[in-house]
Amino acid sequence: MIFDAIVVGLGAMGSAALYQLSAHTPRVLGFDQFSPPHTMGSTHGDTRITRQAIGEGAHFVPLALRSYAIWRDLEQRTGHQLLTSTGGLFVGQPNSTVAMHHKPGWLDTTIRAAEQFGIPHQVLDTESLRRQFPQFRYRPGDIGYFEEEAGFLRPERCVTAQLEQARQQGATVRTQERLLGFTATDGGIRVQTDQGVYHGRKLILTTGSWITESLRQTPYRELLTVNRQVLYWFGIEGDYTRYTPDALPVFILNERNVYGFPAVGGPEGGIKLATETYEYATSPHTVDRTVSESETRQMYEQYVAPNFVGIGPQCVKSVVCLYTMTPDGDFIIDQHPEHRDVLLASACSGHGFKHSAAVGQVLAELALEGRTGFTISPFQLSRFDRS
Ligand SMILES: Cc1cc2nc3c(=O)[nH]c(=O)nc-3n(C[C@H](O)[C@H](O)[C@H](O)COP(=O)(O)OP(=O)(O)OC[C@H]3O[C@@H](n4cnc5c(N)ncnc54)[C@H](O)[C@@H]3O)c2cc1C
Repeated sequence: MIFDAIVVGLGAMGSAALYQLSAHTPRVLGFDQFSPPHTMGSTHGDTRITRQAIGEGAHFVPLALRSYAIWRDLEQRTGHQLLTSTGGLFVGQPNSTVAMHHKPGWLDTTIRAAEQFGIPHQVLDTESLRRQFPQFRYRPGDIGYFEEEAGFLRPERCVTAQLEQARQQGATVRTQERLLGFTATDGGIRVQTDQGVYHGRKLILTTGSWITESLRQTPYRELLTVNRQVLYWFGIEGDYTRYTPDALPVFILNERNVYGFPAVGGPEGGIKLATETYEYATSPHTVDRTVSESETRQMYEQYVAPNFVGIGPQCVKSVVCLYTMTPDGDFIIDQHPEHRDVLLASACSGHGFKHSAAVGQVLAELALEGRTGFTISPFQLSRFDRS
C-alpha cells in the first residue's frame, strides 16, 4: 500500500499530526523508535504550562488558541482530562528585557499579545501579588501578569489520547521501529526502517531532538542545539492546600529563571519546579540522564529557597528532558531543504507542547492539501539563510 502520509516520531508533534491526518484518511502510518509516551525525548514529566498570550511572539497566539479548542474537543471524545485551567501568573519587572526561550522582553510581549488578541488578564502590582499569591517571594517593583485561562496540560495523556484516536480512525501505529533513511521516488518517498520498507506520498519528520540526524546533509546541519534540562519535584513543608491547583496557578518568575506548577501528586508528591539552562550542548544519544545530588542542591539553593515560601530541600523526584533550540527560539515547520515531499516539524525550542495540537493540524493540511491557513513563514528554514 502507498500511504497518504507517514509520520516518524510520535511524541507531542507526531501524535498530533497522526491524529489530524487520520481524521481525513485512514491511509496513514506513524511509527516511533520507542513506545510513546516515553521518557527519552521532550514530552514527559506529568505537566506542561499552557497559556494564550504568547511572550515568545504574537505569531504563536493562533496556534495556542487553536490547540485549546483541539484539547477540549479531545477531552469530550476520550473522557480524559487533558487541560486544567488554573490561571497563569508570570512575574517580572516592568519593561524588563529579560529573555525566555531566546526571546528578549518576554513579559512585555506577553502583555501586548493579550491586549492585541483580547485575552482575559490582569496586571497586578507588588502589593496585590503579595496579598493574592503569598507562596512566592517578590522583589520591589515586581508586577504580575495573570492570565485566567492559562494552566497545564498532561503531556503523556495527550500523546496517548491522540494515538488512540488515530488508531480508531484507521491509522496504523507502530512502536519500537526506527527510521534508518528515506529516498525520493516518482510518487513520493520510500522509507527504510529497521523492520522494513514503506512508501508514502508524504513523509513527516517529527523526530524532536533526533531531527538533527535528518539535517546532517543540508546547510542547516549546525543550526540546532540540544540542551539538557532537569525537572524537580520538591517537598512541600507548609500547608499543602496552598499549593494545589485550586490555590496556585502555573507560574513563571521571568527574571529569576524559574517556573513551576501546582502540586498534582498528593501531599507527598511535591511541587514541580524547573529552571532553564543553555550552557551545555548535548544529544539524545550522549545526554547524562541521571540527576546528581549536587545539582539538586544547587537548584534548591539558587532557585527554590530564594523564591518560594514553604518548600523544603527534599527532592521527591527528578527527571532529565531535552530542549531542541533554534537560534531565534521559533520552531521549524517546513519542507525538508532537499526533499519536497518531506515535511519537518521540530526544534520546538522549549515551548512547543502548548502549540502541538495545532501544529498537528498544520502538518496534516500541508501534507494532504499542500497549504495551511496558519501563518508559518516565521517557522521556515529560509529565515536562517544569509545572502
Ligand atoms: C523540561 C521541559 C519542560 C518543558 N515545558 C514546557 C511547557 O511548560 N510548555 C510547553 O508548551 N512546552 C514545554 N516544553 C517543550 C515541549 O515539551 C516540547 O516542545 C515538545 O514536547 C516536543 O515534542 P516533539 O514531538 O518535538 O519531540 P519528542 O516528544 O521528543 O518526540 C520525538 C519522537 O521522535 C522519535 N524518534 C526520533 N528519531 C526517530 C527515528 N529515527 N525513528 C523513529 N522514531 C524516532 C522519538 O523516539 C520521540 O518519540 C518543555 C520541554 C522540556 C524538555
